[in-house]
Amino acid sequence: MIPYGRQDISDEDIQAVVDVLRSDFLTQGSAVPAFEQAVSSYCGATHAIAVNSATSALHIACLALDLGPGDILWTSPNTFVASANCALYCGAQVDFVEIDPKSYNMSVEALRKKLEQAERSGQLPKIVVPVHYAGQPCEMREIKALADYYGFRIIEDASHAIGARYLNEPVGNCHFSDITIFSFHPVKIITTGEGGMALSNSAMLEKKMRLLRSHGITSTPKEMHLRDHHEIWNYQQVDLGFNYRMTDIQAALGISQMKRLGEFVAKRHELALRYDQILSDIPVTTPWQSLNGYSSYHLYPIRLQIDKIKKTQREVYNALRMHGILVNLHYIPVYLQPYYETLGFKKGYCPEAEKYFSEVISIPMFPQLCEADLDMVLAALEMAIYA
Ligand SMILES: *Cc1c(COP(=O)(O)O)cnc(C)c1O
Repeated sequence: MIPYGRQDISDEDIQAVVDVLRSDFLTQGSAVPAFEQAVSSYCGATHAIAVNSATSALHIACLALDLGPGDILWTSPNTFVASANCALYCGAQVDFVEIDPKSYNMSVEALRKKLEQAERSGQLPKIVVPVHYAGQPCEMREIKALADYYGFRIIEDASHAIGARYLNEPVGNCHFSDITIFSFHPVKIITTGEGGMALSNSAMLEKKMRLLRSHGITSTPKEMHLRDHHEIWNYQQVDLGFNYRMTDIQAALGISQMKRLGEFVAKRHELALRYDQILSDIPVTTPWQSLNGYSSYHLYPIRLQIDKIKKTQREVYNALRMHGILVNLHYIPVYLQPYYETLGFKKGYCPEAEKYFSEVISIPMFPQLCEADLDMVLAALEMAIYA
């Protein structure tokens, strides 16, 4: 059986974890800051805050940007639910911007139109969360120009995109955003088991997120409230935060994985190129790549040319799974999830995203795939489509 994605763990990774297990600190030791340093310097951002998931990173990023009741966050419908849920955690509302029919990222044109309407009705978003779907960077320069004009803040959901580049610079440098977040779930580009990170060039945002990661507690004297009496001097809780910390066990794995990030992404590109070739004769559309970006190829989603195939997406999906190819669907438009329907969203809201969802299938994409695996995927696809 071939999954759609999986981690790549080396003996060095295992040794790095074992070393922490034998050390004094399993958490709150030196591995977490070292991992933060490795990622921030790789990406060219000033600050990085490691947390226990990208979902936590999105939550504290929204809080640091003061998202709350009465505010609105916009994201892409073609994403994992976490990109939208973060708004609801803060008591804010969420709305969705239609996707681009080629990149399947948030459409800049649709965003521009929606902003014009929102300005007229006094309903502008406080935060927009572009998602670098499948690892392909969004048109951040254009989105940032709109942010400057309309005054919203930007969180890049780069859960798919560590190792990707935009305008020849690493995703994560936050040149076009306030905060960028990464996920280190095992299906993503590098892993820490569970884990995530928030990057920013703002010292103020980093301070807020660092506090929120750990209960809102500080032991830095200048962050503490001044008191007449000095009974609370070793640490103070100055905000309502969470326990969103990453362990040193996870961070050690992350540091070790970072050493192979370049290799991982290069291998994914090699595989994508092979797929582009071997799939060129069957009625599927392979992922279009923008010249402004260099994808990390977290996913390789193919689009079935349904009019040329005498099968439904579900039949193709089931046939592939029967042949041991554990494909997946990325993504059901978030607002069609039953929970979101209870919030009032209806089918037909973002037709392009719905059409995409009805035709897409993510086929296996991870560094250890070999030529024989790709042949198996192709054979299974041919059987699924033609048999
Ligand atoms: C995986 C993912 C997340 C959540 O990541 P976790 O680390 O599992 O919390 C958020 N957004 C997107 C787009 C993702 O793919």
